Amino acid sequence: MKGNIFNIQKFSIHDGPGIRTTVFLKGCPLRCKWCSNPESQSSDTQITWDPRKCIGCGTCISACPNGCISEGIRIDHDRCVGCGTCVHSCPAKALKAEGELLEAEDVLKTCLQDQVFYLESGGGVTLSGGECMCQSDFCTQLIDLLHAHDISVAAETTGCIGSAVFRQLAPCFDLLLFDVKHYDPEMHLAGTGVRNDGILENLRWAFSRGLNVLPRIPVIPGFNSRIEDARGIAALLKDIGFKKAQLLPFHQFGERKYELLGREYALKGEKALHPEDLTAYRQVFLDASIDCTF
Ligand code: SF4
Ligand code: SF4
Ligand code: SF4
Repeated sequence: MKGNIFNIQKFSIHDGPGIRTTVFLKGCPLRCKWCSNPESQSSDTQITWDPRKCIGCGTCISACPNGCISEGIRIDHDRCVGCGTCVHSCPAKALKAEGELLEAEDVLKTCLQDQVFYLESGGGVTLSGGECMCQSDFCTQLIDLLHAHDISVAAETTGCIGSAVFRQLAPCFDLLLFDVKHYDPEMHLAGTGVRNDGILENLRWAFSRGLNVLPRIPVIPGFNSRIEDARGIAALLKDIGFKKAQLLPFHQFGERKYELLGREYALKGEKALHPEDLTAYRQVFLDASIDCTF
């Protein structure tokens, strides 16, 4: 079967142990203000436009069969059906389709190209997103194919998926890199667009079933970067029973992608965080007997 994939990144070293291939799947139920992959959020293929490359020929406007592109290259993403006609018509490669329907077997072939590196480094493949579990049937098929080749498979998950799907799919992964963004449901809602009740239920369930789970906390200025936020998250993880966690300091890698999508970026100009900025934050976790790394 086919999945909608917007990137396959080889030689990833931050998405689980060893050298990995990270497969990014489209579709996410959250809308985090700091999202560095805004092209992941929609489950549909989206067209981006790079004004720096555009020569203003207007070919795409007449090429679009649905009239989705207007003067100034404004793309109506709601009406666009992702047919790709405009991308192929553009002589300057200023348009790009984010998302491509790929067969699981074809993704497997790409992943197999680096199998020797997985073996040597203790790595494997990571399914990311978006929320990879939104494409649950595709995930299941791809995991089965990878496991048939003895390749370890991790998920970078938001945990924001119905409990029935989560309970069926989560145990199929060898490792769950589970985002824990906030302990407080209202703050979680304010920053991501959804409350965290269901996410925490999934997190508790995964821990209780003995799954291999590493909680990861994206530390975001103005959202969860205060020491009292660290205390709340550390208390939550300790209460569940976790002994390990990882901090993901905020970065600005996604800013340009918002431009290409014609969207505003809520954290424009916000300074990136570095491990040295989070010494006291990390200490809160260490004090709670949680081995906390970056
Ligand atoms: S969960 Fe991840 S992919 Fe989804 S909106 Fe938040 S940062 Fe973006
Ligand atoms: S992908 Fe197709 S529908 Fe969407 S803007 Fe391009 S030509 Fe129009
Ligand atoms: S076809 Fe490409 S270069 Fe021409 S106006 Fe459209 S985006 Fe710009």
